[in-house]
Amino acid sequence: MRPSSVWHPYTQMSEWDSFPNIVRGDGFWLIDSDGNRYLDGVASMWCNVWGHSKKELVSAISKQAKKITHSSLFNLTNNQAENLAEKLIAISPGMNRVFYSDNGSTAMEIAFKIAIQYWQNIGYKNKNMFATLQNGYHGDTFGTMSVGFVPAFFAKFKKNLYKTIQIPFENSYKIANIEEYYSQTLEKIEVTLAKNQNIAAFVMESGAQIAGGVNIYQNDFQSQISKICRKYNTLLILDEIATGFGRLGSLVEYTAQKSKPDIVTYGKMLTAGYLPMAATLVTKKIYDSFLGKYHQMKHLYHGHTFTGNTLACAVANQNLDLYQKTNLITNVRKTASHLKGRLEEFYDIHTVGDIRHKGILVAIELVSDRAKKTPMSFAKSTNKIVFEEAKKHKIYLRTLGNIVMLVPPLAMPQKEIDFLIDGTIKTIKNISK
Ligand SMILES: *Cc1c(COP(=O)(O)O)cnc(C)c1O
Repeated sequence: MRPSSVWHPYTQMSEWDSFPNIVRGDGFWLIDSDGNRYLDGVASMWCNVWGHSKKELVSAISKQAKKITHSSLFNLTNNQAENLAEKLIAISPGMNRVFYSDNGSTAMEIAFKIAIQYWQNIGYKNKNMFATLQNGYHGDTFGTMSVGFVPAFFAKFKKNLYKTIQIPFENSYKIANIEEYYSQTLEKIEVTLAKNQNIAAFVMESGAQIAGGVNIYQNDFQSQISKICRKYNTLLILDEIATGFGRLGSLVEYTAQKSKPDIVTYGKMLTAGYLPMAATLVTKKIYDSFLGKYHQMKHLYHGHTFTGNTLACAVANQNLDLYQKTNLITNVRKTASHLKGRLEEFYDIHTVGDIRHKGILVAIELVSDRAKKTPMSFAKSTNKIVFEEAKKHKIYLRTLGNIVMLVPPLAMPQKEIDFLIDGTIKTIKNISK
């Protein structure tokens, strides 16, 4: 084995002698250099939609690559970026313009900058704070860490982060009276927005908090927050990077949640997981505030080298066409209900404390004591233990701390979903002995 120079993300490198070297994808399977096959249970970090060698997507990329792979949106435009923006607006009620970037973190940073500048554009000088729910996650850059402060990830950077208003918000698993807790949380939000005239926007993940521990919102929560934001003249920024594009069973989660954002972000599944790209969408009200004479300096000072990358837009266009052509969302709902039917089986394992499920996302929380809800832990990271065991059952899993995540590609057929569930049950049983 040759020595590696790669530093892996969110990884204690000392735990790993080597990593499976993925050389090829075959539908929903990843194949390594030794010929081992792993069913992709995490959709290659929650972004893959159709599996790994979808003919139509590969052909969209190669067709575009033969013409041009990248030309910038500085002074220029291109059909792929234009068409994609039109399609995104068409599926996103209330939205009017699309700003492109390369990843979810930057899409959120752009949302924050737009919100702060919006208020200045219309004459407010001091509306520059963000309010948010604890345990939200919006990316790994300094701005997104400030707003989406997951203590376990970002405590070491706390002194370098800017101030935000964090409304206490615990995982439902830890709450005794959920209804009461939610109404108290809504009250806190209302009091906070009423009291602080300097809040530019309320920021939250749409539908569920994912990376901060998988906390699926109760019905009406998001729509109530949306109403409170309107009442107190605060913008609502919704992060659909993980939950949009069908993960929770709806193409656009904020419509399912009956909420009205001023700014919304998409990422992860936007290109079906084939190329890096994200988008920040805004309403006409927001966009129009940036118009004026050049010397008024109302325009947005933001842009990345690869903003609107032609190749990424081409594959995203093809991806959205496939969603329509194959009725993907209808199938997602069928898969979701099949998944649901199998989840009871996990509770036979004594270390399974809680299962949280919506759409094609399952979080299985492992505990050493069900009554006390003590997180299960090992000498090594739980992720490493679970990953190694799962490999023996030909599945690729990654945990979030003590939470086993099942986040397969949306189009995974039931046969493979069952293989994934069977393998996960065996995995958890074996590591629980
Ligand atoms: C993944 C994620 C991000 C960050 O996206 P990157 O592409 O990893 O920068 C932001 N918000 C949510 C909800 C995410 O899941």
